[in-house]
Amino acid sequence: MPAAPSTRICVPIIAADPPIADQAAAALAAGADLIELRVDRIGDLAAVEDFLATKPAIPIILTIRTRDEGGDWDGDDADRIALIEHLGLQNPGYIDLELATWRRSPNLRQKVLLVAQRHRAESSATTADGMNSDRPRNQLILSEHNLRGTPTDLASRFAALAAESPSIAKIVTTARDAADGLRLLIELARHPDRDRFIALAMGEAGIATRVLARKFGAFLTFATLAPDAQSAPGQPSIAELHERYRWNSIDTDTAVYGIAGFPVSHSRSPDWHNRAMAHAGVNGVYVPLPVAPTYDDFAAFMSLVDAHAELGIRGLSITIPHKEHAFRWLADRAKGAAITISPLATRCRAVNTLARCADGGWFADNTDATGFLAALDAATAPATPDGPDRFGSALILGAGGVARAVIAALRDRGIAITIANRTAQRAAALAAEFSLTAVPWAQRETVRADLLVNCTSVGMSPNDDETPIPAASLRKFAAVADTVYAPAIPRRLASIECLANETRVLAEARTAGIATRITGDALFEAQAAAQFRIWHNIDIATLG
Ligand code: NAP
Repeated sequence: MPAAPSTRICVPIIAADPPIADQAAAALAAGADLIELRVDRIGDLAAVEDFLATKPAIPIILTIRTRDEGGDWDGDDADRIALIEHLGLQNPGYIDLELATWRRSPNLRQKVLLVAQRHRAESSATTADGMNSDRPRNQLILSEHNLRGTPTDLASRFAALAAESPSIAKIVTTARDAADGLRLLIELARHPDRDRFIALAMGEAGIATRVLARKFGAFLTFATLAPDAQSAPGQPSIAELHERYRWNSIDTDTAVYGIAGFPVSHSRSPDWHNRAMAHAGVNGVYVPLPVAPTYDDFAAFMSLVDAHAELGIRGLSITIPHKEHAFRWLADRAKGAAITISPLATRCRAVNTLARCADGGWFADNTDATGFLAALDAATAPATPDGPDRFGSALILGAGGVARAVIAALRDRGIAITIANRTAQRAAALAAEFSLTAVPWAQRETVRADLLVNCTSVGMSPNDDETPIPAASLRKFAAVADTVYAPAIPRRLASIECLANETRVLAEARTAGIATRITGDALFEAQAAAQFRIWHNIDIATLG
């Protein structure tokens, strides 16, 4: 059995309204192990004093953070330390102080140590006047916050904190992209006493550090009660930790999966894969991994993933703008290691799925392509025993990443393809690469084909009343597919009523009487299920 990590969830409290006691009770009920009283943000000292005087059962981190480390305190050290001494008398549990402050004077250190080491024996002695004898002694958290980035010398920064022998050492940086978060986790994983470290990266790109804190056995992670109650950028809500990331099932053996792209905040993949893993009983967690847009950024990220098996990353979804970058990175790396790229991904020259092999190599595929065929088969097979092979021809609108995948997939079926793209050179280049016919964008309405596939982003929210082709030209197609997602609930556009997951072009195809219609949602589901099969060898459809 893997070790069950004792990583705590700490809810920061940054305001006195609602009452602090109510927020603490809500945090406890939601599964928090600790709260942090951000006295610098709360402002209302009387409310803090009143709350601490009630000797709350939940352990508390007492923090009065300075402005230069991300807090609101702009007074001097003497006042701040006096306040820590005063509030610390109530035995909150933990006193957080910045390493920079700690180093400023021996006198200051002595004062903080006296509060920080206020022992339970003292409080036990006063049990008669209401002190809670169960409270542990105060412990010192020494912290460092970098609001600008993630330093390269993390090892020496961890060492500098540990050298002061605090009970807990906390390092918080700002993640430019997911690579910064991975570097923090690699450093955390190196420490045998990592249950005495907090290592988190702020910002959207730091989410992996907040979720994987438990896999690596850190002392705590922060999570908010409400999405707007963050004490630092990027903190998830406690509900998100539990429901989206299945916090309680993360252990040291949990395999890590994620989506690398830029941006990834609106991706459906984390929800889909986390739900599917829960359903299939897979010990895994799937996290967003925003990787900055250039090839060099992607290569730097992949070098970390590749070199640090201890991160436990077993699979990656790759999305815009890194699908071609992934293909190139594999080609570069292939000189020295075991790489298998599926024939379809090779024809696409783009990869959207990476699976780590047991020998440290990689298997790469393009499930946009296989998923498109699966969605097409699912939509057509029940109606026609011959399946989609009955389509002899297809018109593809667009010449971007998805168009490339769809073209490669349809070519494997021997379907004659015509493409039209707003930018003629892109259409011409793709047509030359795949030996296809390209027509000018203005002539797309005149093309006769069995299947129409919209691979442009036209119709995507917020421009969801747009369509890539006039409704009058739809009637001649036997089937229409759209790669663009639409909301899962029916809605009224200015021009037409849409059913669930229907874009405008699909709604117009329905009213034109076209029975076979494939939504972007169906395509997403099919490509995600194909990734799931690659990573877990499980056909999710068979689980019901
Ligand atoms: P991409 O590489 O950026 O390509 C975008 C394509 O849309 C290009 O061909 C572009 O033409 C065309 N386009 C954009 N705006 C246009 C306009 N106003 N009029 C005409 N053409 C326009 O993007 P992609 O990766 O191929 O993605 C395309 C769409 O597929 C997106 O909406 C994406 O969300 C969706 N998608 C869905 C799934 C799924 O699982 N359902 C998977 C991947 C992608 P130019 O060359 O002229 O710029």
